[in-house]
Amino acid sequence: MGYIKKAHRKILQILDNTSSLPNGWDKFVDKQAVYHNLIIKSAKNKCFCTNCKNYFISQKKINQEVKCPYCRNTYLIRRSNLKYQEFKDYLSILDKVNNTLVIRYFELKIVIDAIHERHTSVVEFAREMVADNRYGELYANERVSRCLQYVHIFHEIGDFINAKKWRQCTRCYSLIDYSIVFPNNIKNLLKDTDYKYSCIWDIAKHSTYIDLSQMLKEKKQIPIVEMLCKMKLYNLAQKANEFKNFGSFQKIFGVSKDYYEFMKKHNITYVQLKILKLLQEKNIRKIHYLEKYVSYGSNTTNLEEITEYISLNRFIKYSKMCQEKVDTYLYKDYLRFAKLLGFDLKNNKYAFPKNLREEHDKLSEQYKIQNKKIICDLIKKRGKELSLNKYQNKKFIIFPALSIESLKDESKQQNNCVRTYAEKYAAGTCDIYFMRDINKPKESLVTIEVKNNSVVQSRIKNNDDPSKKQLQFINKWEREVLKGVA
Ligand SMILES: [Zn+2]
Repeated sequence: MGYIKKAHRKILQILDNTSSLPNGWDKFVDKQAVYHNLIIKSAKNKCFCTNCKNYFISQKKINQEVKCPYCRNTYLIRRSNLKYQEFKDYLSILDKVNNTLVIRYFELKIVIDAIHERHTSVVEFAREMVADNRYGELYANERVSRCLQYVHIFHEIGDFINAKKWRQCTRCYSLIDYSIVFPNNIKNLLKDTDYKYSCIWDIAKHSTYIDLSQMLKEKKQIPIVEMLCKMKLYNLAQKANEFKNFGSFQKIFGVSKDYYEFMKKHNITYVQLKILKLLQEKNIRKIHYLEKYVSYGSNTTNLEEITEYISLNRFIKYSKMCQEKVDTYLYKDYLRFAKLLGFDLKNNKYAFPKNLREEHDKLSEQYKIQNKKIICDLIKKRGKELSLNKYQNKKFIIFPALSIESLKDESKQQNNCVRTYAEKYAAGTCDIYFMRDINKPKESLVTIEVKNNSVVQSRIKNNDDPSKKQLQFINKWEREVLKGVA
C-alpha cells in the first residue's frame, strides 16, 4: 500500500485512460512468443511443432532440442502426454507522460495445454517512474500477488482484481529487474533529454534482457554507454559501470585490440569478457563451456584462482574427464594445497585428481600438519628469488619479504592484513615487497603487493595510500626493475 505522489497518481491515470500501445508492439510480442514453443513427440518418433503445427520424424530424445524442418526454429522435445506447460517473460515499454519517463512492465504468458494448443496473453502489471541517481518509484496493480516472496501475476481479471488500482512497491523486493525492452520508440522519446546520444535504443535492439531502469538511473555512465554502443558492444554497454571511456583498448577491456572483432561478432557479455581475459583465446565455444562454471552474480573468482595454477584449457580437459561436474571451489582449494605441498601440477596425475573430494581432503589434512614448516620454507625460498628485484636510491629501498616473521612484523607495524597473504606469497601467486627509508630499514613504510610483475597494491600504515614521492619511487621501480624497461 502506501501513499502515491499526486504527480505520479496523475501519470498513472493518464496511462490508464489511453489504451493505445506503440506501433509495432503486437509484432514485437509475437516475435518474443515464437521462442516459447515445444516439439511434442508421440509414438514412432512422430513430432509435432506447436509453432508451425507441422509434423515430422526425428530420432532425438525427450528433453533434447530439435530443429523443426518447417519453421526452422529449435525447440525442446516433450512427451505427448504433456498436460500443461507454461512460459513467462517480462516485456517492457518506455513511455513519456508529462515529461516524466515511465517504464511499463508486462508479463507475457504462454500456456501449452493437454491438446497441445497454445494460449498467449500479455498483461501490464507494473510501472516505474524514472528518476536520476536512484531507483524511481515503482507501482504495481492488483494483478500482482506476492506470497512467500514468490511473485504471481494474474492474467484473468475477476471481481477481486482491479488492473487500474495501483500501489507503491519497493524495488528491492526484486519484482522486476531485467526485461525484454520494446526498442522502436526509444530513440524518439529520448530525443530532447540528457539521453539523446545514449544509443540505449541500440542495446534494446541487440540485447535480450535489459535492466532499463538501472541504465537510465546512471546518467553519468551515459557517455560510456554511448562509446560501447558505437563500438557495437551492446551487451557490454549494459555493464557500463564496469568500464571507463578513456585510455587504451587494453586498459579499458583488459585484452588487446586484436580481440575487438571477436568481441563485436559475438556481442560478448561482461561475464564472457572476464572469461576471455583468463582464456586469452578467440574461441566462443570454450567461453560458452566455461560460462557454466560462473556462479550467480557473474562471479568468476573460482576460475580466476584456478588459472593461477593451471591454464583454462587444461581445466576444460579436466572438466570433460569429470562429466562437466567439477566443484570449482573445491578444485581451486585442491590446487592450492597441491602447489604448497610441492606436487608438480604440470603433471596431469596431480592436476587432475580422479576423486576430487577425497584427494582434496587428503591434501588438506597433510597440509594442516605441515603447513607452518612448509610456508616458512617456501617464503624463505621466494624471498631469495625475489631479492633480484631489490632496488634503492639515496632515500628509499625496496626488498621482498624474506621470512614469515618479517611478514608478521610488517603486519603488526602497519596494522594491515599482509599476514594473511603469507600463504599466497608462499604459493607464488603474489609477491610481497617492503619499501623502507634507507636510514631506517627496520621501520615499515609501504607494503607492496605485486602480481605478474605489476604493482596491484601499495599501502602505508592503516591501509592508507602512499605519498606522491613514495609513489614516484614505486613507479620507477615497477618500470625499470619489474618490467625491465630502461
Ligand atoms: Zn515448426
